[in-house]
Amino acid sequence: MGFVKYNSKEERDAARKVAYGKKMEFLRTPEGKLWKRNEQLKHLYGITLDDFNSLSASQGHCCKVCTRPASLNRHGSLYVDHCHSTGRIRGLLCTNCNTAIGLLRDCPERLNAAINYLKED
Ligand SMILES: [Zn+2]
Repeated sequence: MGFVKYNSKEERDAARKVAYGKKMEFLRTPEGKLWKRNEQLKHLYGITLDDFNSLSASQGHCCKVCTRPASLNRHGSLYVDHCHSTGRIRGLLCTNCNTAIGLLRDCPERLNAAINYLKED
């Protein structure tokens, strides 16, 4: 990438404004949305959009816990569930299952205690 010399600070700021506007315009296109999703997945989980799509297909595009289809989920997609200490991706979950596991601190003992509590009924 070449170095661009501007004649003034105003000219440089105007060029930056145009570049920013073009980027925002791109991010509103279907291609731009896919690009942004890919960047988010790489940043957050170290996987690409292709990796995500393969994982989703391997689960039949359904939540790994409740088997509810991704199409019924908010945004029509599943959430990446990962271990917070190792970063390992456990699978893709629907909003409810991902939230429930997170609220119980990803703790199997708490989840078992909740199961036992519900069985007392
Ligand atoms: Zn679920």
